Amino acid sequence: MSERGHLNQKDLKRFKKLLEDSRKQILENARKTLEEESNFDTDDLPDEIDQASSEYARAMNGRIRDREKFLLKKIDKALARVEDGTFGICERCEEPISAKRLEARPVTTLCIRCKEEQEKKEKSYG
Ligand SMILES: [Zn+2]
Repeated sequence: MSERGHLNQKDLKRFKKLLEDSRKQILENARKTLEEESNFDTDDLPDEIDQASSEYARAMNGRIRDREKFLLKKIDKALARVEDGTFGICERCEEPISAKRLEARPVTTLCIRCKEEQEKKEKSYG
């Protein structure tokens, strides 16, 4: 397991900060979305359009929240991986994930090779 040393303490600290920052940002956005939603009901619009657009807004917000929840889960998992020392190791093949890839997507748990394989499979099912 000599590969495990490919990220030093300084790198880990930086990735932890990145993860914590995006966590904060997601929570901030979620709060804003909720605020906007609660301000959404306007009496200026005709009933029909109003109803249609609030349904639309609800659907949109529902989707955003699902996406946020999903992302938060990923971030928490990545932070746990920083703590237990498995951050930056591919879940599937246990090879180190390149720092460049982690930089772009700190929540990733797969190396580029496994990710591409996964996407290929998804496409053939899709
Ligand atoms: Zn891999």
